[in-house]
Amino acid sequence: MIELREARDYVLSGCLPNDHIVVALNDALGCVTAEAVVAAEQVPPFANTAVDGYAVDAADTATVPVTLRVTGTVRAGTSGTDSPVETGCAVRIMTGAPVPPGANAIVMVEDTEGSPEGDTVVVTATATVDQHIRPAGDDVNPGDPVIAVGTELTAAHLGVLATIGVTHIAVVRRPVVGVISTGDELIDDGSPLAPGQIRDSNRLTLRKLLESHGFDTVDLGLARDNEQVIESAMRAGAESCDAIVTTGGVSMGDFDYVKVVLDRIGDMRWMQIAIRPAKPLAFGTLTRSDGTAVPVFGLPGNPVSSMVSYELFCRPGLRKMSGFGDDNLDVGMINGVLTEPLRRRADGKTHFARVVCEWDDESSAYKVRSAGAQGSHHMAAMAAANALAELPDGDTLETGSTVRVRLLRP
Ligand code: AMP
Ligand code: MG
Repeated sequence: MIELREARDYVLSGCLPNDHIVVALNDALGCVTAEAVVAAEQVPPFANTAVDGYAVDAADTATVPVTLRVTGTVRAGTSGTDSPVETGCAVRIMTGAPVPPGANAIVMVEDTEGSPEGDTVVVTATATVDQHIRPAGDDVNPGDPVIAVGTELTAAHLGVLATIGVTHIAVVRRPVVGVISTGDELIDDGSPLAPGQIRDSNRLTLRKLLESHGFDTVDLGLARDNEQVIESAMRAGAESCDAIVTTGGVSMGDFDYVKVVLDRIGDMRWMQIAIRPAKPLAFGTLTRSDGTAVPVFGLPGNPVSSMVSYELFCRPGLRKMSGFGDDNLDVGMINGVLTEPLRRRADGKTHFARVVCEWDDESSAYKVRSAGAQGSHHMAAMAAANALAELPDGDTLETGSTVRVRLLRP
């Protein structure tokens, strides 16, 4: 058995960042930037009002209450230049509208009396120069660095890019991932089970996990435990995908052909890792006809094992391919406190228990409890879990112990 760290380093060394593409902002959410963006525009582009109210000369409000003549209205979307503010006068103004010439302060509606339709307004509070005015360039100015290389684009990043008139951005292309399930016992057509058959759940689970993490997937089908079938599914996948995920066929069984095929046609290492579940992993690269090395993740077949292996190896590897830095390959790592013992025995392995992790307001901490049965085939407990708790080698962790938790749905 090898340590988790070693297996992970090996996997990550085979996952290299993808090429760069230019995408519309609409398609850039979650992508990692391949270019820095410097603002070419000022934000706001003109001085405007932060409130609904009256544009005034502050000097006219030195003594209050004071009655000012209302000479016009400036609404958002107009230039305001045809409604200058003269001495003793005020101009009605709506949030976001440009401050008209002659005005140096805005009086908010709440500091006035009189009907909005009236020819006059009574100002009840003295205005200070610049009050409620957002100056041009208050937020961003030409030359300001707005986005750095290597930024994971959030909705707010896209918002600031849209604000400065950027429509497209260069990002690291996210990998397209092909998924293959393997096993003679599997059926995937919904028909009644013949003796010895089970339903293929891994392919759907992994595709939806991948898609929920922002990766497009290709269904490469269900391959029988046959070397030729597995080989052609992998070769076909390597031509159309940036990475391939398989499940099953990597253990010690007589018909575990995934590792055999990958070893023969690719550059592969078969690993027995000191973790539970998900001990076996075959990882390697297949060379596509154009010379590109395509990573292949041979995950174990047990449904819970395949999901845990995905979280520990596949997801970080695919994040690396997506341009994330080494310190940002794992997602949702927090500490939690056990509200019940998590039972285990010392066996030289780190265990990843399926747990429910919930924020507790009273103690200002995440509380952790078992999600149910902990076998690698216990999918019901996996479905009930929202996190994996990392139990270091040793015996049972008692109530109150702090554990490292990997949130599956942060
Ligand atoms: P294997 O790694 O191929 O020996 O499979 C280990 C266990 O996982 C066996 O009990 C398989 O029946 C089960 N298994 C393998 N592939 C799948 C799958 N696609 N969906 C559900 N169970 C699977
Ligand atoms: Mg099998």
